[in-house]
Amino acid sequence: MAMLGNLGENLTKTMKKLVGMSVIDKKTIKEVVKEIQRALIQSDVNIALVLDLSKKIESRALEEEPPKGITPREYVITIIYEEMVNLLGGDAAGLDIDVKPYKILFLGLQGSGKTTTIGKLCRYLQKKGFNPAVVCTDTWRPAAYEQLRQLTEEMQVPLYGDPDNKDALDLAQKGLKEFKNRKVIIFDTAGRHKQEEDLIAEMDTLDDIIQPTESILVIDGTIGQQAGEQAKAFSQATDVGSIIITKLDGSAKGGGAMSAVAETGAPIKFVGTGERIDDFELFDPERFISRLLG
Ligand code: GDP
Repeated sequence: MAMLGNLGENLTKTMKKLVGMSVIDKKTIKEVVKEIQRALIQSDVNIALVLDLSKKIESRALEEEPPKGITPREYVITIIYEEMVNLLGGDAAGLDIDVKPYKILFLGLQGSGKTTTIGKLCRYLQKKGFNPAVVCTDTWRPAAYEQLRQLTEEMQVPLYGDPDNKDALDLAQKGLKEFKNRKVIIFDTAGRHKQEEDLIAEMDTLDDIIQPTESILVIDGTIGQQAGEQAKAFSQATDVGSIIITKLDGSAKGGGAMSAVAETGAPIKFVGTGERIDDFELFDPERFISRLLG
């Protein structure tokens, strides 16, 4: 698949090889584990995580007896699948929109894909029958409001913003009032690259005013393992509830980003897989790994 660079291709190849092997023994298991290691390291997954995973796969494959009716080969495949799902955090989390208004605060550095992702989430929610509204509190980037306006207009999503108002907190308050009867309100926030401390301080005050039901941090998947550090930095400063990882299409480093974030314990709820509005999916580790293994 086009996601995560060659990771899917390499893993599929390895699994095919495993299926074609005439015997499954210590030597072939070690060979398969080596290939999985190589594929994950190429995808920027942290070496310690890779070693831990391969140790688990190898020892389970060598020691555990397959349950009745399952061949050793099938069982090795199951073990690989289970351990890789665990690496990505296990179960799918999704959004549970159980209060009204469900207020989502979007965080993320500039360029991470935050604005695009807001559009994608609006489309996703519309398909589920919710009518989201968006509030633009990004007063730092003049083009932010315009970008959101175009995006929301196409989808007929109501937008509150005022490019002349430079007070993010005031915008948040007015937006809250404007959309208080909506089921879902999404707040876009500023995301500058520089002066990260100021940005995080502003997020903190916005957080107090909006009292979000959920804060979602958008992270660019092409930064690889560094995504773990970024998730930690934001969650120390604000209450990050969940993560969306973008740009998994084609990026060779996406596997590193996903595993590093999963390791921090913050749930990955959605992933972005392209520039188009529908290139977005609920993140379900089981489905995701099934597709990667082919
Ligand atoms: P923001 O500054 O965080 O609001 O970022 P934007 O939403 O403006 O996105 C920055 C760039 O990343 C744009 O060119 C988007 O089209 C692109 N982008 C966002 N999400 C994805 C994705 O999942 N895949 C790809 N390939 N590009 C993306």
